[in-house]
Amino acid sequence: MDNYKGCVMIYAEQNNGKIHPVSYELLNKGGEVARKKGVKLIAALIGPMEIDENELIRRGADAVFTVKEDDTYSFPDENSYANTLVHMVKEVSPDILLVGATNFGRSMGPKVASLLGCGLTADCTALDVDEEDGALIQIRPAFSENILAHIKSKNFPQMATIRFKEFDEAPINEDHEGEIIEVSKPVSMLQLVEVINEIKTEQVDLVNASVVVTGGKGLKSKDDFKMLNELATLLDGVVGASRPLVEEGFLGKAHQVGYSGHRVKPNLYIACGVSGAAQHIAGMKESQYTIAINSDPSAPIFNVADLGIVGDLYEVIPELIKQLKGE
Ligand SMILES: Cc1cc2nc3c(=O)[nH]c(=O)nc-3n(C[C@H](O)[C@H](O)[C@H](O)COP(=O)(O)OP(=O)(O)OC[C@H]3O[C@@H](n4cnc5c(N)ncnc54)[C@H](O)[C@@H]3O)c2cc1C
Repeated sequence: MDNYKGCVMIYAEQNNGKIHPVSYELLNKGGEVARKKGVKLIAALIGPMEIDENELIRRGADAVFTVKEDDTYSFPDENSYANTLVHMVKEVSPDILLVGATNFGRSMGPKVASLLGCGLTADCTALDVDEEDGALIQIRPAFSENILAHIKSKNFPQMATIRFKEFDEAPINEDHEGEIIEVSKPVSMLQLVEVINEIKTEQVDLVNASVVVTGGKGLKSKDDFKMLNELATLLDGVVGASRPLVEEGFLGKAHQVGYSGHRVKPNLYIACGVSGAAQHIAGMKESQYTIAINSDPSAPIFNVADLGIVGDLYEVIPELIKQLKGE
């Protein structure tokens, strides 16, 4: 293990035995940091037996540390995963630990930081290395994305969660070699969750959607999302929501676009009855083409829209649907 002391370690998230793409993004950015520091790049993989760790090596990991077991890791209990990752960190002693800012990573990361007694910079959008002391500079937007904070943790490992879709995935290199090191499960596990019944929640791939039709508080009732759904379906897209509607229970959190929700980059974003608050814009500003429908001509959403329609969404959307159906 001494070989890897001071390395950059990325947490390779997996979902039902399939490696999450954020892990490949972390290998890309983590690899860049490791090269700048002149240290090794390690992936820590925890999960059921079926996962194939070789893909992490092909994507640049110098070594993959794995703890695999079906019983403990068959469901995503952050407590047992956090406990196991802490065990691996103590074995390997990385200087830097990177975790994807997915729902799971955002929940597990703080537990890991707390158990290790280190700091954690959440939701980083860039990383750099201090040329003087080799420390990790963790860069993230702050104050509703108005400034970029540069943060240097004083204690080790320097830990950060990194936004999903912020970096490209590390490319595959069939010739890249690395070792796979099996680590035993920690002796004492903090297992606080017992699965009584599995309820499948609605799945929506907002982040990868090419068209997103978002509803804001201009919508009067939950039922009105049927109209947005119809428009989204006609365009082969999905439905998003502003935060107040998610808080009111109109749609689940998986649909929330914005600073505290998902960042989307669709080809087409249609904002219906959304005012365009900074926290909402933070989640959709990278859309390729934005259409805003709002009855208030001074709504800030029009400042970021490529096409603005000043009007009542209850008239505009049915008309759009009619046109798309060729009626
Ligand atoms: C820390 C923090 C994090 C946040 N994170 C998020 C986030 O992730 N996502 C997010 O969305 N918000 C977030 N917010 C909330 C954000 O500040 C705004 O309050 C929210 O985005 C407003 O939602 P809205 O545009 O749907 O509602 P409103 O601001 O109330 O706007 C409704 C709009 O609908 C228009 N309208 C009304 N009726 C019609 C009609 N019939 N036809 C057409 N237009 C109509 C109105 O003119 C108005 O512009 C966050 C806030 C904080 C403090």
